[in-house]
Amino acid sequence: MYNKALSELSAGDVIMELNAQAAALAAEIGSENVFNYSIGNPNLPPPPSVYEAIASVLKEEDQTAVHGYGPNAGIREVREAIAGHINSRFGQDLTYEDIFVVAGSCAGLSILLKALAVPGDEVICIAPYFTEYAAFLMAAGAKLVAVDADPQTFFPDVSAIREAISPRTRAVIVDSPNNPTGVIYPLEVLQDLAAMLREKETEYGHPIYLVSDEPYREIVFEGEDLPYLMDLYDDTIVSYSYSKSLSLAGQRIGYLAFSSRIAERKEIIRAVAGAGRIYGHTCAPTLFQRVLLHCIGDTTDVSLYRQNRDLLVGQLEQCGFSFVPPHGAFYVMVKSPIPDAVAFARDAAQRHHLFFVPTDAFGTKGYVRLSYCVSPEMIRRSFPALEQLAKDYGLLQ
Ligand code: PLP
Repeated sequence: MYNKALSELSAGDVIMELNAQAAALAAEIGSENVFNYSIGNPNLPPPPSVYEAIASVLKEEDQTAVHGYGPNAGIREVREAIAGHINSRFGQDLTYEDIFVVAGSCAGLSILLKALAVPGDEVICIAPYFTEYAAFLMAAGAKLVAVDADPQTFFPDVSAIREAISPRTRAVIVDSPNNPTGVIYPLEVLQDLAAMLREKETEYGHPIYLVSDEPYREIVFEGEDLPYLMDLYDDTIVSYSYSKSLSLAGQRIGYLAFSSRIAERKEIIRAVAGAGRIYGHTCAPTLFQRVLLHCIGDTTDVSLYRQNRDLLVGQLEQCGFSFVPPHGAFYVMVKSPIPDAVAFARDAAQRHHLFFVPTDAFGTKGYVRLSYCVSPEMIRRSFPALEQLAKDYGLLQ
């Protein structure tokens, strides 16, 4: 006997599944003949400061502090450093107590949502949304209320969100730069969202949290200045990850930051620690917490993602594909030339060894996501396959 629902959930992880299929095909026919646009695994190395920091932390005298258990919410010095970084960069007034260091933002978001919602509560996700929100909410017993983004821009549709809010709404999750669209939500839209949420908080007499999931904050291409949502809305919780900004996805390190204006933040943080306990989130990796002390504001050279974007988007355009112009993260969402994007993605993989993720699992049908944190050589090598695919579907003569 076992939990069948969880077995199905694992089989339903389309991204991991496609990535595994691409790897199996590459082992068979050579990786140079497979064009794997499925997974958002950063292909750039971490910046040199990370390697230097690892070397220096490994030489620290107290190796128990480096490899042993750390406090549940993170090492105090590290929490202080993160709060200090946020304060100087975004003009906040956080203390170490407002920071909870986590083993990556998947862990952070799942313990946060568990802490905010009881079974039957609702959390609004703007579709298309990061697939894993559904799993985190399932674990919390909370209902994912999907609200479609504006189909022209893929920005949040604030009036549709207003309609979807109920007395059971505990939180709204925003993710900008967005996975899977690569769009950046404009300041005015976020201001409207904040104003509407304030109105609803007053109407219901309880907080509605704005969860800003921002693993792609540093990956912006046109010099956009992304607003810090704590500035726009008091009840904001930021989920940050070093997976993409420092290319440390496998090391599992990130944090939750709670606005100092959240009335019940101490209680919520205690609930996050309680959720961590039931999920076995004992502490974030201590080695990488200490590494952060040396390179907290650094990033990988994200200009390389911009070059990849230009390369790929140029070819998609030439081939006649329609897509949402991406301004950040490392994804582009392409319209499927047939209504069934799952069939289109299957066909692209079978006939041309092009691996795309249908966005059905992101809550929006009719598109595929291409992840371009890959080598520019792979993008160039995929050009003939993309051309052939476009010809198959009559987009190109
Ligand atoms: N949130 C979004 C929008 C993501 O795209 C990802 C990873 O791709 C995550 C969260 C999870 O990141 P982490 O590696 O920190 O768990």
